Amino acid sequence: MSARRITDYSRFLSKTSALRQPSAIRALQPLMNLPGMISLGGGNPNPSTFPFAKASLTLRNGESVEIGEKDMAAALQYGASAGSPGLLSWLKQLQQAEHGSKAGLFRDLSAPGAYTPKDWDICIGTGSQDLLLRTFEMLLDPQTDSVLVESPCYSGVLAGLRPHLGANPGAVVGVGTDEHGLRPDRVDTVLRNWPTLEQDPTARARPRVLYTIPAGGNPTGTTQPEHRRRELYEVAREHDLLIVEDDPYYYLQYGEGERAPSFLALDEDARVLRTDSFSKIVSAGMRIGFATGPAPLVDRLVLHAQAGCLHPSGIAQATLLAYLNHIGVEGFLKHCDEVADFYRSRRDVFCEAADRHLKGLAEWHSPDAGMFVWFRLLGEIQDSAPLIRTKAAEKRVLLVPGESFMPECGDGGIVSSFPLGAQEDGSQSTGTSPYVRASFSTADAEQIDQALQRLAAVIREG
Ligand code: PMP
Repeated sequence: MSARRITDYSRFLSKTSALRQPSAIRALQPLMNLPGMISLGGGNPNPSTFPFAKASLTLRNGESVEIGEKDMAAALQYGASAGSPGLLSWLKQLQQAEHGSKAGLFRDLSAPGAYTPKDWDICIGTGSQDLLLRTFEMLLDPQTDSVLVESPCYSGVLAGLRPHLGANPGAVVGVGTDEHGLRPDRVDTVLRNWPTLEQDPTARARPRVLYTIPAGGNPTGTTQPEHRRRELYEVAREHDLLIVEDDPYYYLQYGEGERAPSFLALDEDARVLRTDSFSKIVSAGMRIGFATGPAPLVDRLVLHAQAGCLHPSGIAQATLLAYLNHIGVEGFLKHCDEVADFYRSRRDVFCEAADRHLKGLAEWHSPDAGMFVWFRLLGEIQDSAPLIRTKAAEKRVLLVPGESFMPECGDGGIVSSFPLGAQEDGSQSTGTSPYVRASFSTADAEQIDQALQRLAAVIREG
């Protein structure tokens, strides 16, 4: 076992999470199906009153998948807060196949001291967004804590962190990024320079949590290469950080060869909690994501669900499982490769159109994953928001201004040749940004061409 293997997570937990107790009624759920049990305990409705019996779903290729009567009955009833047992066991196989062959958490399960299936766990959530919000509530105390995020940062996470921690400097701390994503040296510098209470009586606790998107970053589209991930992991070890790895674009990687190992795959110390999502590869409306990581943390996420949504939708889980059982792990990975091929060619079309229309007006990188291109508008433009919110919308092209992705507080001092928008001059964001996020996921080639012509006209007109 790694000498640094974390076994006690109490130093990472928020006070709210420490107060969460298992729900007395939810605790009955696993007992209900024991042979011979007569339940007068739960508040389950009587399933004979439900109108649905079974379902048959036609796939795009003409094949069909069935949800039989037994599975349908289970799907219609209240279910386990961690997710349906059938889907959980399918996901365990997937995680083992996809992240287990590399070093780290799942490495050689037979080795002495290696992780065993009871040391790591999975829970299913209503999309990865739900799991991320639960994670932040589990780890961060509103008045006193701080969290390190990438700058720029996924706006959906900022939308959860800001009201939770408060939008004051030192709560949500943006760390500089470059064309390879989050910078380990910047993480290290922020933590080394974190003020003590003697230096600053208003200082928040030193961050214990680092949130990062390793592939196809939202909004920048950047992907951290393996060496960057390993450096970040070492910094996390050095400063005893938990890494929250948000990886919804994992299967949408466009480079040659193998995907870079996830933080989960590199994790020797059990300091990574990873979220995956089915939104980009099977369905966004199904609202299914899952968290993988150390069992004590996953168990706490489940406690949160017990007091909130109770459990992810049974019908959504049954539908997904019927499909996944139909295609198997291999078939699923093949499906993901086909989805990635689709987006790769969209990306190429988009970047060719950008070359045609935006050269000299903006700069950008062609992303290696995901569905976003991050444009820096050139010239006098310091704030893209007025142009994008009004003039671009008038010309009928929708984009997201960079300011939506700016954390309140920066890490002060970015030295990269291609800073992606982190504040370069100190700790306080001005809230403005010359950047713009564009997505190439839904528009077709002709619409992409039109949209980028319109954007070019907006920039020229200023
Ligand atoms: N994280 C990132 C980086 C995202 O881009 C998104 C979706 N926009 C989410 C999480 C949430 O995804 P889900 O649909 O699984 O909730």
